[in-house]
Amino acid sequence: MGKKLKINNSLLTLKKIEKFIIPFNPPVFTFERSIRNTPFRILISVLLSSRTKDTVTKDASKKLFSIADTPEKMFRTGEQKIKELIYPVGFYKRKAKNIYEICKKLIQIKKVPDNFIELTNLPGVGRKTANLVLALAFNKPSIAVDTHVFRISKRLGWANGEKPEIVEKELKKMFPEIFWNKINQTLVGFGQTVCKPQNPSCNICILEKECPYYTLKRINKI
Ligand code: SF4
Repeated sequence: MGKKLKINNSLLTLKKIEKFIIPFNPPVFTFERSIRNTPFRILISVLLSSRTKDTVTKDASKKLFSIADTPEKMFRTGEQKIKELIYPVGFYKRKAKNIYEICKKLIQIKKVPDNFIELTNLPGVGRKTANLVLALAFNKPSIAVDTHVFRISKRLGWANGEKPEIVEKELKKMFPEIFWNKINQTLVGFGQTVCKPQNPSCNICILEKECPYYTLKRINKI
């Protein structure tokens, strides 16, 4: 009974957030619309997006794909040129190297893997990237825990884990599988616009009354 109530409340909150952020048009909405394409493009765009603003990733992906939009073409483009094309995304040198190596591997295996193990075997593809690719490219239920998902899940009392993989497990227990793919986009959008890392805009937030972080903030006057 208790667990069921918790699931319903969290779901209700997720749905409220989903609706609430639409008028803010968070950058993640435009970014995800722009990359919905082949699994290869999605994989490369998601890799580029790590520690980079969505607007910067969008421009870099556009430049890169205008020259090379398949593993074969990108491999022929070479690491140096990839580096120039994706600048100024975060860690562009390392990402260019990984993209080049990924293309080499994809040419051998002839497809973008659609499972977690094979995806994380690709250079530079970690848990978060693999989960995002599974959701966006293959519509497989997964939860990518990035800094926004991590922070907001804890602020809302949905998770306590100190590591993203623990938070991922907690969220998976809390939400029915059919909602997993909504969590990343919704919380990233919420985190980009309202529940920001520093100085969240609690004064305009619809969750003010139910947010444990806000209650704590008020009591402690932080
Ligand atoms: S009340 Fe503040 S901390 Fe809580 S969810 Fe809203 S913006 Fe985030």
